[in-house]
Amino acid sequence: MSTAEPILLTPGPLTTSARTRQAMMVDWGSWDDRFNQLTASLCEQLLAIINGAASHHCVPLQGSGTFAVEAAIGTLVPRDGKILVLINGAYGKRLAKICDVLGRSFSTFETAEDEPTTANDVDRLLRADPGITHVALIHCETSTGILNPLPEIAQVIARHGKRLIIDAMSSFGALPVDAQQVPFDALIAASGKCLEGVPGMGFVFARKESLASAAGNSHSLAMDLHDQHSYMARTGQWRFTPPTHVVAALHEALLQYNEEGGLPARHRRYAANCQALMEEMSKLGLRSFLPAAIQAPIIATFHAPKDPRYQFKEFYERVKAKGYILYPGKLTQVETFRVGCIGHVTPAQMREAVAAVAQVLSEMEVLEI
Ligand SMILES: *Cc1c(COP(=O)(O)O)cnc(C)c1O
Repeated sequence: MSTAEPILLTPGPLTTSARTRQAMMVDWGSWDDRFNQLTASLCEQLLAIINGAASHHCVPLQGSGTFAVEAAIGTLVPRDGKILVLINGAYGKRLAKICDVLGRSFSTFETAEDEPTTANDVDRLLRADPGITHVALIHCETSTGILNPLPEIAQVIARHGKRLIIDAMSSFGALPVDAQQVPFDALIAASGKCLEGVPGMGFVFARKESLASAAGNSHSLAMDLHDQHSYMARTGQWRFTPPTHVVAALHEALLQYNEEGGLPARHRRYAANCQALMEEMSKLGLRSFLPAAIQAPIIATFHAPKDPRYQFKEFYERVKAKGYILYPGKLTQVETFRVGCIGHVTPAQMREAVAAVAQVLSEMEVLEI
């Protein structure tokens, strides 16, 4: 039994550093200049990660990542717009549900959970329906870990003169996106994923012209990014009570991100985590759901052992008792479980986590993998 808190091998909330958690030990006043400077510095650093300062605004928003996705769609898609939603997992389905709830017209294109959407698909779909104004895409679909070919899809959408909204929640900060190379209207991410902050705020990189012309689109006061941005630009303050501790933690997490070497270093560590995980799991005979070519180094999905003695709940509890929190599968057709590669963890810890998995399978007398 481990006495320390277990390590989260989950795609957010995830394991953060002690230094990041320590940054929350201050009560900030939301009117205070120092806090406003923290927010401004945060937005500036976030924009730098996508090389977006010239073309995009960073609009932070209180809440979990989904709040920011909903706000982006509600703000940037006019009420008479039409969204093509590209789906290969649960988060893609959530995009469609948001469009539905917001009353925006939309169509969906769904591929299997182990099949990326292609630029050819998008080209064909846009040709077939000139009424589409926006396309919504999940960069890394966290329900499996599959990577969709964002740069190629973005080029096709731009060629058709349509606008792209990217849910890059689980990839932002670890997989490169250059706003000057990849055309998009909005890219959405959050504090508690690859930046290794704590959960509680999302942010939307919104193309400046698109945001400027989005006044009055939003169905909601609290979720109106146009209003959020203009208020912040005018006053330096958040429109409503900011998640002060979350902002402070994310600011501290970004200092560490840059000290580590920024995106290339973060990507390298996560790729090494993922590789260590895959190597050790395959030694146990546990099979990855996705082929390596379409696997993002964010989260990995494994087929559950076939042995009837395997039950996820017991497996989970026993692995947790050894110090690691795994993640249930999110597939409807096949039984799986997931292991996150992101967070303040190292390849050595990934190997230790798999050693714990091996012990647990043996304790549970799971023989047939
Ligand atoms: C985590 C995540 C979200 C946001 O989920 P919340 O539970 O609202 O934080 C959205 N999209 C993707 C792809 C994600 O991984």
